[in-house]
Amino acid sequence: MSELFGIIGNPIAHSLSPLLQNEAYQLNEIDAYFQAFHVEHEDVETAIKGMKAIGIKGFMVTVPYKAKVIPFLDEVDAIALKKGAVNIVQLIDGKYVGYNFDGEAWLQGLLEDMNRQSLHEESILILGAGGAALSIYHTLSQYGELRIDIANRTIERANALKEVGGDHKYTNVLSLEEAESMQYQYDVIVQTTSIGMWPDIDQSPIHITKLKKDAFVSDIIYNPAETKILKQARQNGARTQNGMKMLALQNALSIEKWTGRKVNYQQMMASLHKALS
Ligand code: NAP
Repeated sequence: MSELFGIIGNPIAHSLSPLLQNEAYQLNEIDAYFQAFHVEHEDVETAIKGMKAIGIKGFMVTVPYKAKVIPFLDEVDAIALKKGAVNIVQLIDGKYVGYNFDGEAWLQGLLEDMNRQSLHEESILILGAGGAALSIYHTLSQYGELRIDIANRTIERANALKEVGGDHKYTNVLSLEEAESMQYQYDVIVQTTSIGMWPDIDQSPIHITKLKKDAFVSDIIYNPAETKILKQARQNGARTQNGMKMLALQNALSIEKWTGRKVNYQQMMASLHKALS
């Protein structure tokens, strides 16, 4: 019998994960189907119980339920617990176990596009302090010698994020205005707010005017493919990256976890380009 996997969120109609996953199953001859499930806020617990009852072996979790699902899972991996957010759930020995791969997927994509094996003494600026920023900060904090500054509209949220990262030695919390004026200090800037996402494509958390030589600017938004901040960064000579690779890598990682099969995420990138062009 075919396996069923899925994703829960609200709204969910825009999710590209069903396209990526079902294409990957076909190409890799995996006998499975992936379904998006729109779940209302008050129904999250019931939805999870229902998925277990009908034998769903794994599901992804997206906005706004990455934190909300935690009390309804049987176990949560220590890293996801620390990040306070789950984005992939796997059924193991009858128990739903939650994981968070946002940060790892982003970092893998960054290193690939920077053509690097690792990060060493870079100065990194994270714009935003929401769920995705938290996961990225936590992942980056494993590299002790990095300077990782956080800029956010709500300063208290950025301070809270600094705590979660294990009080990384070299972190300053900044306003978005301060970050804008200090932009030339950073080797890597990662934009994790929802500003600039379609349809608000003329907005940007900071204006890019003067970057450090050889700076790399990453925006985890993938629609549009080039946000305003990425366009300004490119025009100012930076190498840039959007959120497509992070999304594709997350989907590839989830398939590997659920089925033990490694799939080629480049194929997913091609599908994303096609779907969004
Ligand atoms: P979240 O937890 O809701 O955080 C949103 C962040 O955006 C916060 O830092 C918030 O600042 C900031 N923000 C929102 N509106 C703002 C405004 N008008 N002015 C200033 N700051 C504003 O969301 P998330 O889960 O981290 O996701 C953030 C973005 O990343 C979304 O666009 C999502 O689609 C994308 N994402 C992409 C991937 C991928 O695979 N490519 C994965 C995860 C997320 P405050 O704290 O001040 O409210």
